[in-house]
Amino acid sequence: MGQAKSRGSREQRIEAAVALQEALKPTEMICNECGGAISGGDIYMQNTRNMPGVDMACSGVCPQCKSVTWGFKGTEQGVAALSAAIASEHPDVIGSVQAYTNKS
Ligand SMILES: [Zn+2]
Repeated sequence: MGQAKSRGSREQRIEAAVALQEALKPTEMICNECGGAISGGDIYMQNTRNMPGVDMACSGVCPQCKSVTWGFKGTEQGVAALSAAIASEHPDVIGSVQAYTNKS
């Protein structure tokens, strides 16, 4: 790759990426378990930098039943790969709610 010419500083690019993530963040999710509403304050963005085809991943913690509902946005392939990865890494997602509510 040649020299990238003034595409903005590293900070500016990170800022733009964060802004894009925030723009993609759902304002509300519906709990997979109980159908309750999960508001934005209970929705946590996940890092998708190393996930080709995935634009956005988030997990919402249901205030009623405490189960986690995942939200993905991206290509069909990207979302399918991410779903499979999460299912294999976290077969017991409900039991590991804490891991996702803690800021990483
Ligand atoms: Zn629920």
